[in-house]
Amino acid sequence: MEKQRKGFRVNRMKKNKLGLPAQIVISLILGIVVGLACYFIEGGPAFTTNYLKPFGTIFVNLLKFIVVPVVLFSMIDGIISMDDMKKVGSVGWKTVAYFMITTAIACVIGLVFANIFRAANLFPTLQLQEGAVWDKATSANFMDTLVNIFPSNMWEAFRTSNMLQVIVIALFFGGAILSAGKKGALCRDIVVSFNEVINRLMAFIISLSPIGVFTMMAWVVATQGAEILGSLALVILCAYLGYIVHAVVVYSASVSPLAFFKGAAAAMIFAFTSTSSTASLPVSKECAEDLGADKDIAAFVLPLGATVNMDGTAIYQCVATIFLAACVGMELTLGQMITVVVTATLASIGTAGVSGAGMIMLAMVLTAMGIPVDMIMLIYGIDRLFDMGRTCLNVTGDISCSLCVTNWENNRAAKAVAQK
Ligand code: ASP
Repeated sequence: MEKQRKGFRVNRMKKNKLGLPAQIVISLILGIVVGLACYFIEGGPAFTTNYLKPFGTIFVNLLKFIVVPVVLFSMIDGIISMDDMKKVGSVGWKTVAYFMITTAIACVIGLVFANIFRAANLFPTLQLQEGAVWDKATSANFMDTLVNIFPSNMWEAFRTSNMLQVIVIALFFGGAILSAGKKGALCRDIVVSFNEVINRLMAFIISLSPIGVFTMMAWVVATQGAEILGSLALVILCAYLGYIVHAVVVYSASVSPLAFFKGAAAAMIFAFTSTSSTASLPVSKECAEDLGADKDIAAFVLPLGATVNMDGTAIYQCVATIFLAACVGMELTLGQMITVVVTATLASIGTAGVSGAGMIMLAMVLTAMGIPVDMIMLIYGIDRLFDMGRTCLNVTGDISCSLCVTNWENNRAAKAVAQK
C-alpha cells in the first residue's frame, strides 16, 4: 500500500519529469509576470479577477472540500497507529510546548522590529477616513473560541468545516478506538481504509496546485500591485522582516536549514498564494513526510498546527498593534508590550487557518491595548499582502514542529532501548 502511495508524492512525481515543487515555483514566477503585465494594461486587473481568479477559487474549493476528511481520518489514523495513549500524550505535550514557545518568540521578534521601525520614524502616521467603521460583529474573543472548541453537533462541525471541533472529534474517536481494543477492530479498519482513499484523492488535487498558484498570484499582483508602492509599504516590509528572521532563526535552529526549506518549499509557496493554512494541509503533510517526519506524528501535529500554531499571525498582530498605536499617538510601556505578547499569542491560537482570520483576531489584541478597533480599517485593504507572508510562516512552523517532535520521539525511543 505504502509503496503504491509513494507514486503520488509531491517530491517524487514520477510521471512528470519536472517535480511538483519545481512546477509550483514556475507557476509562481509566471503568475507574477502575468500579474505585472495585467497591472499595466487597461482592463488587465479586471481580466485577472474575472477570468483567472475563478480557477484559483475552484482549486481552493477542492482543497477545502477535502480538508475535513483529511484531518478527521489522518488524525484518527495517526492516533490509533501510535497504539497507546502514553505515546499520544507524549507527542501531544511536546507539540503544544513547541507551539507556545515558538509563538511567544515570534511575538518578541515582531515587537522588536515594530519598535525599531517606530523609533526610526519609518511608520507613516495615518488617520481613519471619515465613516470607516470596523464591523465589530466579526471579531471574536478567546473565551468564545475556547467554548466553541467542543461541538454540540458532529455533523454541524463537518458542515461548517470548524477545524478545532473536527480535531476534538478526531481525538475523542481515536482515543475511544484505542480503548475499545479488539471490539473496536472494525472501526479501526474502516478508518485505515478511508484514510487511504482520501490520500489518493488528495494527491490528485495537489497535482493541480500549479494552476491554483499561477491564477491566484496573477490576480494578487494585478489587483494589489499599486498598494505595495503605497504608504503602507514600510509596515509590510517590517512584518516580512519579522517573518523571515523568525523562519531563519527559529526553524533553522530546530532542523537542518537548507534541506528543510528545500523540502518545505512546495507547502510554503502554496500557503503564500492560498493564504490558508487549512487549505495547505494536504501539501504540508506530503512535504513533512518527505522531509522525514513520522507519518503518525505528522498526522497529529499538522492539523493541530494548521488550526492553533500561527507564528506568522502573531508577528503580524504585534507589528500591526505597534503601527496602529503609533497612528493614534500611543506609546506602549514595557508592561503593555508584555500584554501584547500574551494576547497576540492567545489571539493567534484562536485564529482559524483561513484567509484573513488573523486580521479579525487582531481586534482582540487592539481591544486589550485600548486601541480603537476601527483603526483596523487602515490596513484592511492590504491584508492579503500581510496574509500571504504570515500563512507561509504559519505552515512552515507546523512542518518544522512535526520534524522536531519526530526527532524527540526517536531520541526517547532510542534511550528507552538503551536502558533495557
Ligand atoms: N491566513 C492565515 C492562515 O491560514 C491565518 C491568518 O489570517 O492569520 O494561517
